[in-house]
Amino acid sequence: MPISSTDKSFSSAAPGYWADQNISEADWNSHTWQLKNRVTTLEEIERHINLTDEEREGIILTGSKLAMAVTPHFFNLIDANDPNCPIRRQVIPRVEETQLSKEEMADPCGEDSHMPVPGLVHRYPDRVLFLVTDRCASYCRYCTRSRVVSGVGDQHLELQFEMAFRYIEEHPEIRDVLLSGGDPLLLSDAKLEKILTRLRSIKHVEFIRIGSRIPIFLPQRITPQLCEMLAKFHPLWISVHANHPKELTSEVKAGLERLANHGVPLGNQSVLLAGVNDSVEVQRALVHKLLMCRTRPYYLYQCDLIKGSAHLRASVEKGIEIIEGLRGHTTGYAVPQYVIDAPGGGGKVPMNPNYLLEHDNDHVLIRNFENKRFSYPEAKQSSPKVEC
Ligand code: SF4
Repeated sequence: MPISSTDKSFSSAAPGYWADQNISEADWNSHTWQLKNRVTTLEEIERHINLTDEEREGIILTGSKLAMAVTPHFFNLIDANDPNCPIRRQVIPRVEETQLSKEEMADPCGEDSHMPVPGLVHRYPDRVLFLVTDRCASYCRYCTRSRVVSGVGDQHLELQFEMAFRYIEEHPEIRDVLLSGGDPLLLSDAKLEKILTRLRSIKHVEFIRIGSRIPIFLPQRITPQLCEMLAKFHPLWISVHANHPKELTSEVKAGLERLANHGVPLGNQSVLLAGVNDSVEVQRALVHKLLMCRTRPYYLYQCDLIKGSAHLRASVEKGIEIIEGLRGHTTGYAVPQYVIDAPGGGGKVPMNPNYLLEHDNDHVLIRNFENKRFSYPEAKQSSPKVEC
């Protein structure tokens, strides 16, 4: 998918398809208006964009798997006449979602089998994933948690906040809590503040993170009040989720800057998606725009083996080629770590181009981004013991 010059600029998403509806600026900029006016039906979509048969069938057939909802802000990024539009591929269902292959799973990261308490995943030694809601502002068709997210599938997310807080209190090894869902920033300021206050009352919880796609789907939610509330709980970091440079609008940039101005370090987790961002050119434009939004590209995920996602999965070879095309060719801060979340619950495994060509007791033979080879001598002495 070629990048147009507009993809590299920060244009506004407003008013787009809502231009003839006389929406006041105050309404457009209100997150409650955006949520109330999400595009959720076939009729609403067809009012604006020319659907393909695959999309129309997908919208009808996938309604009981993962709900369809798109905020007006994000919907405005869709190209009405391009069925291969990278924004469209992420949020408009396609009939391919109903085609399942044997390697696909409902819970590809094995989260359910690592839940000591409903909604709390304890897979890594010193940190937990705390699922605090099953709702999002818009729904991504490749969502890893589509089994529980949106409330229409067979499985429901059980939320047991008190049990989860107690588990964290009773496990002093937990120093890092990641709030996710669904999207935690969809909770009201008051509810979120209650959760953060309780977590901060636990002495061994050093570090709190929030995983959210709200700054991208619903930047209107990043209000000064929200930012002021979050700033009371530092160190608090936010991982956002943008996949294509078009998603970084002027509204998104302003929201991310507001968070950064309140001391929230920002990282981006994107998913490698076929026909969306599976080229060096698109990824380069994305990571450069992210840096301009003061957001560090953090992870590039290989798409999980979620049911009905084959049409969106790019090859691992493509992912490695993208990292090869970024590392050394652009700012180091701009290069995310490409990972595969090992199927079944093995955790994140880093994937890199092979820069280590030989390694023995005397030397390592390495290559750089220009494919030039260098030898570096291996250290002979063992290091003195370091005490923490
Ligand atoms: S925002 Fe995150 S949790 Fe929600 S549908 Fe998208 S990937 Fe899933």
